[in-house]
Amino acid sequence: MNIHEYQSKNILREYGVNVPNGHVAYSIDEAVSYAKKINSNVTVVKAQIHAGGRGKAGGVKIAKDLSEVRAYAKEILGKVLVTPQTGPEGTEVKRLLVEEGCNIDKEYYIGLVLDRSTSRVVLMGSEEGGMDIEEVAANTPEKIFNEEIDPTVGLQAFQARRLAFNLNIEKEYIGKITKLIMNLYKAYDDKDCMIAEINPLVTTKDGDVMALDAKMSFDENALHRQKEIVELRDLDEENRNEIEASKYDLSYIQLDGNIGCMVNGAGLAMSTMDIIKFHGGSPANFLDVGGDATPEKVAEAFKIILSDKEVKGIFVNVFGGIMKCDYIAQGIIEATKQFDLEIPLVVRLEGTNVDLGKKMLNDSGLNITSANSMADGADKIVKMVNELK
Ligand code: GDP
Ligand code: MN
Repeated sequence: MNIHEYQSKNILREYGVNVPNGHVAYSIDEAVSYAKKINSNVTVVKAQIHAGGRGKAGGVKIAKDLSEVRAYAKEILGKVLVTPQTGPEGTEVKRLLVEEGCNIDKEYYIGLVLDRSTSRVVLMGSEEGGMDIEEVAANTPEKIFNEEIDPTVGLQAFQARRLAFNLNIEKEYIGKITKLIMNLYKAYDDKDCMIAEINPLVTTKDGDVMALDAKMSFDENALHRQKEIVELRDLDEENRNEIEASKYDLSYIQLDGNIGCMVNGAGLAMSTMDIIKFHGGSPANFLDVGGDATPEKVAEAFKIILSDKEVKGIFVNVFGGIMKCDYIAQGIIEATKQFDLEIPLVVRLEGTNVDLGKKMLNDSGLNITSANSMADGADKIVKMVNELK
């Protein structure tokens, strides 16, 4: 789960990480009134969306007086920002961060991420921080330094210091940066983060060290013990269908293909996507309806799949183990009638009571194509969707 920059900065502030004085604003007037309160020579107006790359997309502006704050707030609020992380459709800006400007000397990158291959948190840093860190990672990976953290003892101060030396940080700042990194790790650990990233971390001309940007992302499996984090959730930033699906305990991820998939079990869902690809099609989603595919859940799954306007056909691939095939067939028939399904529907059932399930589908009089195997089903749905073109 992701949160906004200003929310991350509020958390980091509590942990003693130096961040600029700032406030979230939802309107132009609010932005100006906070800028007045902050009362600094330079005020930064920043778009708050859950995607990075805002600077280059015009979402970060430096204002020299209140009239500029007003002009920038007006420009950014309501704007659809398109960055490499938003996708081509972009994200509308609904919140701003109004912040005291600072006199940057040098920009660094510092991040904590979970490395799944070693099951350890890694501290990363680069001297080449700022807006081009992705290019640094791609072209000059030797400029990124890592410290692997042993979970039994946590991050050690010597590791933070070693990283600071690797980043060629000037002596006078080493102590401050080491402390900042240790505090960042404490926040990461306490709040069950997956990512905590500061880019840029800056040294200032006044001799300070400060986090100018902050991104925190949290482990959803730990949210049950992170009540204050859950409250920071901004549903505007999340896919509507995915929110709807989570209410019904369906695991749904929207993709950009045109064949809707309804499957039970994550492994079967993955292999269904693979086999559609193998037959030359493109899945519109990952959808695991789970072991208890009740008719209500099947109906909800259909509704979510059909609300994606790209979907040109549906492939149901269900193994009736705990759930019997006839019960699933009943759900499919009800949903097909309920939604007046006009696009091709291919169903592959296997497992307990499979013959009865298939008979119910055949006898329903509905336009449902039955498949004898996964490959047969994938082949059929891909052909049917292609014929529509
Ligand atoms: P991102 O592009 O989404 O990662 O947004 P950032 O918060 O990292 O801002 C982009 C860039 O704006 C930073 O790399 C800085 O160079 C610049 N910036 C951000 N805040 C300030 C500030 O307070 N003062 C100045 N001079 N520049 C800033
Ligand atoms: Mn940044």
